[in-house]
Amino acid sequence: MSDPILSVRKAVKTYGEFRALDAVDLDIREGEFLTLLGPSGSGKTTLLSAIAGFTALSAGEVHARGSNITRLPPEKRDFAMVFQGYALFPTMTVAENVGYPLRVRKYGRSALQARVRDCLDLVQMGQFADRMPHQLSGGQQQRIALARALSFEPDVLLLDEPLSALDKKLRADLQWELKALHERLGVTFIYVTHDQDEALSMSDRIVILKDGAIQQEGAPGALYDWPRTRFVANFLGKSNFISADVVGQGAEGLTVEAAGQRFTLAPRPGLAPQGPVSLALRPERIRLGAPGQEAFTGRVRQISYLGERCQVLVDHDVLGEVLVSQPTWHAGLRPEPQMDVSFGWGAGACVPLLET
Ligand code: ADP
Ligand code: MG
Repeated sequence: MSDPILSVRKAVKTYGEFRALDAVDLDIREGEFLTLLGPSGSGKTTLLSAIAGFTALSAGEVHARGSNITRLPPEKRDFAMVFQGYALFPTMTVAENVGYPLRVRKYGRSALQARVRDCLDLVQMGQFADRMPHQLSGGQQQRIALARALSFEPDVLLLDEPLSALDKKLRADLQWELKALHERLGVTFIYVTHDQDEALSMSDRIVILKDGAIQQEGAPGALYDWPRTRFVANFLGKSNFISADVVGQGAEGLTVEAAGQRFTLAPRPGLAPQGPVSLALRPERIRLGAPGQEAFTGRVRQISYLGERCQVLVDHDVLGEVLVSQPTWHAGLRPEPQMDVSFGWGAGACVPLLET
């Protein structure tokens, strides 16, 4: 790996007794789209703000390209930031807003105008240069905020829930645009969200935060397929959890026993070779069948139709409530409430968790 563009070392932020950040270690690669994902209060904004220099750490360090910037004020770090609120200057036109960081940096008049035009084109707002912020919709204002942040060609763009004030459809459009922009510009993005779909669809890498500490990090697919903890398995997508016992290990993997059935799992480094284990099982990995067709027998309690998918809650004597998700166009069994069904899954569907 090339040297990280940014490193956070053992970052701690305390407010009295409370730890908003608890020994966070993080390297950010140049050009990466990194997302900090976590529930409200998990420390995402605090971490971003410590990187930007607005929050002073209680302990630990921030390094940029190898030099210690922990005590450098925000304006000397030259990172750009986009917040949830649009935060445009209300008495300046769109063009003046976008040009503001350039004026502060003493750009000459013609260089400034050219750069403002380029940045407005970049976010497809070229024809709005002379408008005032209040004459723009929320999505348009956020585009201008983005253009303003990018105007001085920062190395790193910090985004704190920039789309969360927008409605769902517009948010999805802007997610595509942001991702395309990231690919075109090659700028390092550090993106904060509490929205798992947003994190999964946009990021090169996701860092999951809980209670001020990193729970797990990795590429979206790796995190989704190999959660370490129950929290991660539930925060990124949905999961069923099955209590099992490891009863043997062989060349083909791990043999576990759950609800009177034995099955084999792929081995997982770091897993205890024996004893109780918690398995995560994604709802879309479960097959439904007529009674007797699959290994487990249950009864449908509830069905929820979601358009492209259909979620089915099945009660099982030992496993309890099992959530199954299948495509609506699925040609197999059409479950109905109170129907007796069987269910099962293929090899690799269950993932043993490393911590509970
Ligand atoms: P997130 O962005 O993940 O929702 P924050 O980083 O804003 O979370 O906050 C993390 C925790 O730190 C929260 O419990 C919050 O209440 C607390 N916190 C943040 N700022 C302050 C502050 N200035 N004083 C006291 N507690 C704070
Ligand atoms: Mg926040």
